[in-house]
Amino acid sequence: MERKFIPLSVPNIKGNELEYVTEAVKDEWVSTGGSYIETFEKNVAEYVHVEKTVAVQSGTAGLHLALIQSGVGLGDEVITATLTFIAAVNPIRYVGAEPIFMDCDDTLCLDPIKVEQFIEEECTFEEGKLINNRSKKHIKAILGVHVFGNLLDMEKLMNIANKYNLKFIEDATEALGSYYTNGSYKGQFAGTIGDFGVFSFNGNKIMTTGGGGMILAKNKEDLDYVRYLSTQAKDDTLNFIHGDVGYNYRMTNLQAALGVGQLERLEDFIATKKANYHLYKELLESNEKVELMEFKQNIRPNYWFYALNIKGNPDIQLFIHKLQAEKIQTRPIWGLIHEQKPYKKSQSYKIEKADYYVNHILNIPCSSNLTQEEVCYVSECVKELL
Ligand SMILES: *Cc1c(COP(=O)(O)O)cnc(C)c1O
Repeated sequence: MERKFIPLSVPNIKGNELEYVTEAVKDEWVSTGGSYIETFEKNVAEYVHVEKTVAVQSGTAGLHLALIQSGVGLGDEVITATLTFIAAVNPIRYVGAEPIFMDCDDTLCLDPIKVEQFIEEECTFEEGKLINNRSKKHIKAILGVHVFGNLLDMEKLMNIANKYNLKFIEDATEALGSYYTNGSYKGQFAGTIGDFGVFSFNGNKIMTTGGGGMILAKNKEDLDYVRYLSTQAKDDTLNFIHGDVGYNYRMTNLQAALGVGQLERLEDFIATKKANYHLYKELLESNEKVELMEFKQNIRPNYWFYALNIKGNPDIQLFIHKLQAEKIQTRPIWGLIHEQKPYKKSQSYKIEKADYYVNHILNIPCSSNLTQEEVCYVSECVKELL
């Protein structure tokens, strides 16, 4: 029998999703009104133990609104990561601000020690404002990414944010379902700790609404205003009175119907991803050339993406092609953002580990419908072809 192609990460839509979407279509509530939107918001809020959420069109839109509501605007600066997907950074430019790029640590997440060092060595804190000595600009926020479902060191980062009067935006687009099992944030989910948290439901995320996102906020008024901005800032829905420059960012009922069905299965997805992660770990353990990157100890990760750290001096591109020939889709980690064309002139601080990881990380198949047999096959090919 011919082997099926093994994709990196694809949706898994086999529960009640079709029924719910069909209902939305039959009811002809397909746009930005309809009861699935509120149900989806409520169900996600319950899942991560917060009061309310706001569903939007994408994670990118969510980050955009979070930055606006954080008061980040023209001429301001935001501390962020270089090792991330570019959608985490672009919204900083949408609001007219500039990113300052930081290194990652060995969890691939923002390094809190370097963030603090940068602030102490290169900035001045006066009258409640953090000023970048080089640019003389006001640093207003930290935008941190919970990479691959691992969690940021929020304890250290929130201490820094509080000390220097910075807003903290959690890009939790990859980390829905991850939470701390120890420390001062024990029991708290990714996205619920900073001033704002953002989820994504794009096709390759742990659960999908086709495209979609969600915003969480510590402060209820902030969240209400974000909802208002996401729906064209209407003050009066009948007479077209608008109190601000709004956006068409609201999630549609069709997307939300899909989301309600997906959320019912999220814990099952995580269980499968966890089992497959441990199987990969066991099968690859004996090989000295690779190491399956660990998730942090004091967390319950969602096991979204698996990262292989290939030792030595690997030719990642060649390896990807070899695996492709065996019907296995893999990919390198993202190109560093401070080296991308739109950000070459932006400031960066002591990027070292990200430089290493960008040349050594390979993401391997991790879909929630990946079978154990496929995990064994991928592991065999990795060992043979490396
Ligand atoms: C997916 C992703 C986003 C963007 O989410 P969309 O819903 O695709 O707009 C932002 N940041 C990171 C780190 C992501 O992985």
